[in-house]
Amino acid sequence: MDPYQDSHAPKADAQAVADARSSSDLDAAGISSRYADEGPVKRALVNLVPLATLIAVVLFWMLAPRSLTENSWTLVVVTASISFFVLGLEFVLERHEGWRLNWTEFSTDLFYQILYSTVIAWAVLALADEPLMAIKEKLGITTLWLTELPLVVQAFMVLVLIEFGQYWMHRLMHNWLPFWLTHAPHHHITQLNAMKGAVGNPIELFLISLSVVALFDFDVVAIFCGLTMLTVISSFAHANVRSDPPLIYSYVFTTIRHHSLHHTALSYEDTRCNYGNSVILFDRIFGTYREGESRVVGQDDRRRLSIYEQWMFPFQPLIDRFRSARKNSASANG
Ligand SMILES: [Zn+2]
Ligand SMILES: [Zn+2]
Repeated sequence: MDPYQDSHAPKADAQAVADARSSSDLDAAGISSRYADEGPVKRALVNLVPLATLIAVVLFWMLAPRSLTENSWTLVVVTASISFFVLGLEFVLERHEGWRLNWTEFSTDLFYQILYSTVIAWAVLALADEPLMAIKEKLGITTLWLTELPLVVQAFMVLVLIEFGQYWMHRLMHNWLPFWLTHAPHHHITQLNAMKGAVGNPIELFLISLSVVALFDFDVVAIFCGLTMLTVISSFAHANVRSDPPLIYSYVFTTIRHHSLHHTALSYEDTRCNYGNSVILFDRIFGTYREGESRVVGQDDRRRLSIYEQWMFPFQPLIDRFRSARKNSASANG
């Protein structure tokens, strides 16, 4: 039960719930069954695209010259390239017509993508990573043995470390009202697209980006590799692309099926599963995994929030209380 939903916003209208319910039934077998006429070879190739992209990104970091891979601008270019590549796939391998990108959605997503890689990234560095590095220095913590490990192993360790923190932060957001109020705007999005992972209240974007990676002496290339692997997985997990990756990928990594179910418009209660933004294995381990997918996504009455509403959302209960108190005192005085 979402207490905020009861006190503030109208409940999901009957039609949206009915749509969501029939969509869940419809999608129970996955998108593959609906695109069976594509032919088994094409379906298999389409389903392999996320895994192939992930392998290509890892190979880039492992094989490109260090003069290139150590440069932080390379991280910016690779991250942007992944986003635009997956966005491009939405045009040729569309999953749901109702999620098709329009200019309003695209410009909002682009705004958040830029905000995330500039202001939020800076805030995380200044308010979390640098203080952690200072603590590490002060306490004399050294983990130089890490740099002896193969780059690819370090990259996976970075990925697991970041995702483990994100899993519990995300779960907390679905279990504690003050944190839910920061995360709810992300659930108010009414369609899923490649850059939607970065759409949400800035406080949430900051909180979900916190990690303890700065406490370890990972090779910088391994950190960049781990970060871009997360970009690949979370982009595909939000993208309107009809790839249903094979079990070798989907047992460990989050897919659009898992994550669309997490975004279901059925009810707030139904979103409390599949918390792993990129590593669904944590849900399987900690008992929050649910099978299925949803075509109808959103919260409450499925009204799309503006950027202003997304930013004000956590403060709305306070604003409402203040307004009603003022109204009460005005009517008492009048
Ligand atoms: Zn969530
Ligand atoms: Zn999401």
